[in-house]
Amino acid sequence: MLDKKKIKIQLETERDLLVGQLGDMGKLNTETGEWEAMPEALDYKVSDQNDMADRFEDYESKSSMIRSLEPRLQNILFALKAINKESFGKCEICKKDIEKARMDANPAARTCKKHLES
Ligand SMILES: [Zn+2]
Repeated sequence: MLDKKKIKIQLETERDLLVGQLGDMGKLNTETGEWEAMPEALDYKVSDQNDMADRFEDYESKSSMIRSLEPRLQNILFALKAINKESFGKCEICKKDIEKARMDANPAARTCKKHLES
């Protein structure tokens, strides 16, 4: 049996961590439900070419961080919604129980090791 209480806490901790990281780099667009990178506040006094390039680079790196964090957050949110369902902890493909070690490592896992999505 899965310890859903423990898993839920794990998932919520991970969710808060991800939301915190995303919040450092961008903001949630409430219309699209997607996170968007936020450029650093404009400082007109030091707005030369280098500064513009730096800011663009910063924006790009934030965007790519957000793109890698966002699917993880979506997975966690999905798992939190599904946690009380009968199917939680079972592989979406073969419907067998997901290995305990895998669930421990990634409580938002949706497939067993064999059907690991690549
Ligand atoms: Zn499977």
